[in-house]
Amino acid sequence: MTRVRLAAETDFSGFRAAARDLLRQGVEPRDVEFAVAGHEPGLFEDAPAGGGPTASSRPVPAVSRAFLSTIASASLHREPARFALIYRILWRLVDEPGLAQVASDPDVARLGALAKAVRRDIHKMHAFVRFRAVEGPDGEAFIAWYEPDHHVVEAAAPFFARRFASLLWTILTPERCVRWTGDALEYSDGVDRAVAPTGDDLEDLWRRYYASVFNPARVNPTAMRAEMPRRFWRNLPEAQLIQDLVAEAPSRAAAMVAAAPTLPVARRGAKLVDEDAERSEAAAPGLPALADRIQGCRECPLWEPATQGVPGEGPAHAALMIVGEQPGDEEDLAGRPFVGPAGRLLDRALAQAGVPRDAVYVTNAVKHFKFEPRGKRRIHKKPEAREIRACLPWLEQEFTLVRPDVVVMLGASAAQAVLGHTVAVTRVRGEVLDLAEGRRGLVTTHPSYVLRLPDREAAEAAFEALVRDLAQAWALARPA
Ligand code: SF4
Repeated sequence: MTRVRLAAETDFSGFRAAARDLLRQGVEPRDVEFAVAGHEPGLFEDAPAGGGPTASSRPVPAVSRAFLSTIASASLHREPARFALIYRILWRLVDEPGLAQVASDPDVARLGALAKAVRRDIHKMHAFVRFRAVEGPDGEAFIAWYEPDHHVVEAAAPFFARRFASLLWTILTPERCVRWTGDALEYSDGVDRAVAPTGDDLEDLWRRYYASVFNPARVNPTAMRAEMPRRFWRNLPEAQLIQDLVAEAPSRAAAMVAAAPTLPVARRGAKLVDEDAERSEAAAPGLPALADRIQGCRECPLWEPATQGVPGEGPAHAALMIVGEQPGDEEDLAGRPFVGPAGRLLDRALAQAGVPRDAVYVTNAVKHFKFEPRGKRRIHKKPEAREIRACLPWLEQEFTLVRPDVVVMLGASAAQAVLGHTVAVTRVRGEVLDLAEGRRGLVTTHPSYVLRLPDREAAEAAFEALVRDLAQAWALARPA
């Protein structure tokens, strides 16, 4: 048996180097074991990579960048057998070069599921970390306690560095801690889960942590503050977000630090948010904060050419949520959903269906406008599945915050996001679908489809059908 000891749970480069050696030596998957240093005391201490039996040497398979990204994500899963799985797939790829595309293959499907869980965990960390302000030795700093499901601290941290580049912040987790010094991310060992802080204990924990990692040569907060005096902070979106979060602290300190985002997932199942708190009026700030966080999202390339992210809009708790595909040209400029031609048609359809527009929460599966420049015009482009997937955690958070009873999916992209698979709109239209957490869903056509129909009669018929679907959804959401 060949035993490979990786330096850390996130030692993907170490794994790649070992896997290359093992393949070259022809070590079969069944003859290799992977473990992380410190997690198997004594067992792997003297076992260098690739020291086992050899068969025939195998070439290192070429994998696409997308598949490599899937592998890298999967490697951050908490599943102990993930490295063995990846090595087995790499081994098989030599004989089965098309394997990565075989979604039904059990190994490929498992890899995809691990990668998906990790990506979702990164999104959750981006969305649910809550900072609180503390006065530290260097002046004001922001601290948070968080418990990710997987080994994602290093993968998630650059987002916070970009989002809160001007502030000093620290995120403490049971496995790894990360600190932004103003110009670099510094990682250190995690904090014992047994001392997970609640309320003001977080500050004490942070002070102890800070004292253990403090390196005065690495920070110059005085210079930082001189560059960005506090009076300017109100103009910075990231500082405003932090101020909003901090402002919630006096009334919801326990919920911020413990109940809402940071309660250990293991103790609360899949629920990351305190349901009762989120249903209450006190949860209303959740949607504005979410809208702010969407502006900082860089999880897919769509943010770059777009003017801004377009979050959903509507009551903090709406019985009916309507999900479209993505913002259009006017929505991109206005920063609001459904304000362009398709939105105006939707308004008319809602009115005709007897649905009060202001009772409905409207949003999109993808939050940034995808387009192709053509002269001075920006032509809508359909989002790809990977972009819909990348954006899904934002939609899920809207579900969590708004808690709709009924979800109307406008068109195939919205249906794909909500249902998790592609459907033919015409096939499922009119069918009441069971969604997660007891919600019900209806798929109908997107208003832009109605607008595109060249034939007036066909357009009128499509409009009437849309009205009928909206009326059906409203009847479900508000049964008489
Ligand atoms: S489209 Fe969605 S996932 Fe992509 S950058 Fe915008 S908010 Fe993030």
